[in-house]
Amino acid sequence: MKLDILAFGAHPDDVELGCGATIAKEISFGKKVGIIDLTRGELGTRGSAELRHIEATNAGAILGVSVRENLGFADGFFINDKEHQLAVIQMIRKYQPDVVLCNAVDDRHIDHPKGSDLVSNACFLSGLIKIETTLNGEIQEKWRPKQVYHYIQWKNSKPDFVVDVTGFMDKKEKSVLAYASQFFDPNSKEPETPITSKNFTDSINYRAKDLGRLIGVDFAEGFTSERYVAVDKITDLI
Ligand SMILES: [Zn+2]
Repeated sequence: MKLDILAFGAHPDDVELGCGATIAKEISFGKKVGIIDLTRGELGTRGSAELRHIEATNAGAILGVSVRENLGFADGFFINDKEHQLAVIQMIRKYQPDVVLCNAVDDRHIDHPKGSDLVSNACFLSGLIKIETTLNGEIQEKWRPKQVYHYIQWKNSKPDFVVDVTGFMDKKEKSVLAYASQFFDPNSKEPETPITSKNFTDSINYRAKDLGRLIGVDFAEGFTSERYVAVDKITDLI
């Protein structure tokens, strides 16, 4: 199945938090979007990998994604080597996306920049014909996405461009809150972490609102681009 957009996240919930509203908006235009989680988030302080799998399935359904797969890499310890690159290349060639979205280039959690480098490297390598991968016994065709964009995560990195996501924050917030075991819950008996505070849950809305304010809309999500942001006409920018 060919997809328009393939979004990768080191952990289930990275994609929802980083670019959930952008994905919901593209799906509303009829675009086909998939999510690939690199790990099962098994080192997450709260919940379990099994619970996270259920939460991720529900979150993906809320956004309306066509597919969601998990590569089962080791949370916290996966590395950017040939074995992991080939597994990512297999997904890129399987879904042939025009646009790949992936983790922030620099962030608090060490898996985020690692996942960012790994997916970025795989996007390049996937276009090399002499790297052979197979799926269900069949040799895959080479495929290189046209664009690789990195969503902004914990750190307030300066985006290269922002997407107006006004009207799609409800879906984003619902998809994030599908990970109920992860976030603010005043009745939880599990340990506190940086993402279980009320402030973090609130930040999903207020950070998007602030980015929106800066471009004159209600809400926005920010991305960095690996190459220059190009437009066909100078009037294309809003
Ligand atoms: Zn993460």
